[in-house]
Amino acid sequence: MPGTVPLLPPTTGSAVSLDIQALTVGPRFLRTRGMSRWHRPRSGSRHGGRDCYTAWCGYSIGSSDRAPVLTAEGVPAGELVCATCEGRAIGAGQEEQPPGGRRLVFGPRELQLPKNCPGSRRALLAPLPGGTTARCLLCGDTHPVRAMGGPYNPRIALIQHPPGERLVEPCPFHRWRQPTLTDGAVSCTCGRPMPTPAA
Ligand SMILES: [Zn+2]
Ligand SMILES: [Zn+2]
Ligand SMILES: [Zn+2]
Repeated sequence: MPGTVPLLPPTTGSAVSLDIQALTVGPRFLRTRGMSRWHRPRSGSRHGGRDCYTAWCGYSIGSSDRAPVLTAEGVPAGELVCATCEGRAIGAGQEEQPPGGRRLVFGPRELQLPKNCPGSRRALLAPLPGGTTARCLLCGDTHPVRAMGGPYNPRIALIQHPPGERLVEPCPFHRWRQPTLTDGAVSCTCGRPMPTPAA
């Protein structure tokens, strides 16, 4: 659809059922009829055919049967725009930088690549002959393994290491926080696959 902007993944610490879908694009401006100003979406999700957005300022903006969300590609003359939403949307790269030479920047920390591979100190590995090294199932790199965990939950795990170049795609909701191994493939504990990027 014209006038859309790319959205960030709708990260959350809560469980998200599999029938909820992460939206990757959304309207440039939106508000409900009762809101006094236009906001801008940071992320969005779809459930039961209905879209719900989280604005950069924190508001949840979703449609109901009685009150559809109003969207706009540009703000009608004289109407107000939420300053938090506008500044963060520009700083995060959803919008061109404003004139005047100042460059706005806003980078949500939870979306940065992790410093350590999420396969570090976990048993998400494919053992290699010899038993002292293994291939990390999250990033594809080979690293030494160690016995870790206490006497009640001993495990052989990879040492801490930086993410390799073929780090699996993150879950749109839980990023790399909860990787698990199911039938030989890495997925998030919510059930969404975390595929290895194409070479
Ligand atoms: Zn706002
Ligand atoms: Zn790794
Ligand atoms: Zn997940």
